[in-house]
Amino acid sequence: METAKQTEIPKPRRIVLVPCPYQGHITPMLQLASFLHSVAGFSITIAHTRFNSPNPSNFPHFQFVYLDDGIPEKEAIPTDLIAVLLELNVNCRDSFKAEMRKLMAVEPEDSSEVIAGVIHDEIMFFCEEIASDLKLRSFILRTTAAVTSLARMALVSLNDEGMDPIPKLHPLRFKDLPISLTTDFTGYSKLMKKTYNMETPTTAKAIIWNTMEWLEDSIMAKIENKSTVPIFPIGPLHRIVSAQTSVLKEDFDCLSWLDEQADNVVIYVAIGSIASYNEKAFGEMAWGLANSQQPFLWVVQPGAIHGSEWIEALPKDFLEAIGGRGYIVKWAPQKQVLAHRAVGGFWSHCGWNSSMESLSEGVPMLCSPCFGDQKVNARYLSYVWRVGIQLENGLEREEIEKGIRRLMVGEESKEMRERTKDFKEKIEAYVLKVKDQCYSHTYLAELVSLLKSS
Ligand code: UDP
Repeated sequence: METAKQTEIPKPRRIVLVPCPYQGHITPMLQLASFLHSVAGFSITIAHTRFNSPNPSNFPHFQFVYLDDGIPEKEAIPTDLIAVLLELNVNCRDSFKAEMRKLMAVEPEDSSEVIAGVIHDEIMFFCEEIASDLKLRSFILRTTAAVTSLARMALVSLNDEGMDPIPKLHPLRFKDLPISLTTDFTGYSKLMKKTYNMETPTTAKAIIWNTMEWLEDSIMAKIENKSTVPIFPIGPLHRIVSAQTSVLKEDFDCLSWLDEQADNVVIYVAIGSIASYNEKAFGEMAWGLANSQQPFLWVVQPGAIHGSEWIEALPKDFLEAIGGRGYIVKWAPQKQVLAHRAVGGFWSHCGWNSSMESLSEGVPMLCSPCFGDQKVNARYLSYVWRVGIQLENGLEREEIEKGIRRLMVGEESKEMRERTKDFKEKIEAYVLKVKDQCYSHTYLAELVSLLKSS
């Protein structure tokens, strides 16, 4: 006869996930949620700001609750990102606490459900304290490369102590340090110290990291040495699960335009969701592209050019100069674009998602970082992994034209393409192994087991 213990059915478990409301952070959080739901069987609640929310109908199995963020929609591309992020951490507290209390006071028929934990973006650090007050476990999701964490702390130390952190961070140079969109270094320093940095105490149970251990092994070893909590490098999430995470509407017509182009000739140009340019830089980009003679697909997000709604600031004669050689869209299905046989290069701001997506498709990059972790990624892509060329002297048409040529044609391009293909193959092999083993013996499996434990 079976004992009561043997027949005990595990209680259904719910995870609450709190993304930072910008595309590069929303995407990995929703990918993680999709994995935890579809592969590991957790119920999912997404606690999102009203600002910049993804479409809940793309996730019919998830519950969405909304946080009062106090951020006006016009802030979509903020001028002082750090100030907005600090504000979010103040504004969302009360509504997050209220939503968590509602979730915990479940209806009698659901009372067997357990809240297994809160996973929050490292930027949404207010969640950790609230979870702890409510006696819930919390977990931090990091959506940047591991090396960015070290570089951020070095930057803060530089400000605090006036010491020079660069030799310790070889090959990063001062200009590669991840200063963000702000005029206020005190705010930056405050945010970085609040996001768990191995040196401050934390009540979080683990750090989940959307990076690959083998890609950043020496950095990860340094971080693991210092960390008081386990670290789960579970990336690249976009290859582990597929989810429709885009906040903006993607223009799929550009794929038909790509179908008409030859193999590997198109340079894809996109600067993510929050980088922006002034009109002069935009003009230089346009002429750099036109003069390169290379076909291009260019994403210009509305509002990304200062003072313009969309592309009104394009130089006179530009469209005539390019003929049918270029295609401009407001937002592209980027992963499909990078996987298209016609795309041979990616001119990017080097956000971490874009970098991993490009490596996964074996597409070499022209790197022009704008701020924050993009600068660290650009340095690693170009100098360490040698799969990109960095535009070192800002946006200037001759340098852009030269950079595009080096990226797309000739011996250097061929070698870079080979190296990038190696990364693609490594990532493919890793993902295949993970899926073949049904995710067992992986950091993902360890994470799931931790989330399922008491
Ligand atoms: N993206 C997209 N279409 C575009 C431009 C970007 O789908 O036209 C996606 C891209 O695939 C990536 C994300 O937006 O997953 C941008 O994240 P990233 O970390 O690269 O940059 P961020 O927006 O955080 O600066």
